[in-house]
Amino acid sequence: MSCGVSFNIFSLESKELVELYNLAVSYDRNIEIEIIHEGEHDLGLHENPSDVDPCNHRIRFVNSLDKKQRIEAIAHELAHLLLLYKHGLRIVKRCFPGIGDEHLDSFLQRITNTTHHLFLIDLLKDNYRIDSVLHLGLLQDNSSGYSSEKELQYIKALLAFERKKLVGKGIEEKSKQVLPFWEAYNSARKHFGKYSFQFVPSPSIYEEDVLSFLGDLGYQKKYFVFCPQRDTIRRNEKNLSGQENATCSMPDPKVDQTK
Ligand SMILES: [Zn+2]
Repeated sequence: MSCGVSFNIFSLESKELVELYNLAVSYDRNIEIEIIHEGEHDLGLHENPSDVDPCNHRIRFVNSLDKKQRIEAIAHELAHLLLLYKHGLRIVKRCFPGIGDEHLDSFLQRITNTTHHLFLIDLLKDNYRIDSVLHLGLLQDNSSGYSSEKELQYIKALLAFERKKLVGKGIEEKSKQVLPFWEAYNSARKHFGKYSFQFVPSPSIYEEDVLSFLGDLGYQKKYFVFCPQRDTIRRNEKNLSGQENATCSMPDPKVDQTK
């Protein structure tokens, strides 16, 4: 159930945003955009000002964003949907029970976010002249913490990898980073290092890269699936016939925040 108020993007007077919106709607007809009051939900200006729930086709952003930030935030989330529905870069989820595995779910969310961001920042800039100041600013602020939880170290490593790729910023306090951090960082470089707007992988290569990344960290590939199912995606890849659709009968872990 949504608590936001429907938002009309035409009020932002950005023809580039409308162009992007029209393209995204051609792949996902059910997109809804909502504005919400900061503080009443789990979004906030300084941490997570917008998100998208691909399953509900809903983009949300906080009302404290100014006009330029609203354009950036909505464009960012629309680009996530395009990567999902046009390019077939689906969301990785776990397919085994695990109440209390919120760190693992957050880590899986981070994989989708970080890999998508390697394409969408340049996509927005080159194709729509829309900056990502809001997102890149958040990325630079998010570098603290030395949790011993391995999934939190993996998240930290993915953020460090993303910072390096997108803003060229090196790893902070290298000597304090622990083994799980380096394992994830080096595996991300190995499997996602080549990703860029000029090289968007096919869905099958992308999924193999994600599973190989997880495999490097000791996870069994068979416990992960990609959502939504392929037949709900209008995809570019020419020949996917014969490939099985991954299904997951578990209640969905929270995977909807692709900030
Ligand atoms: Zn994002």
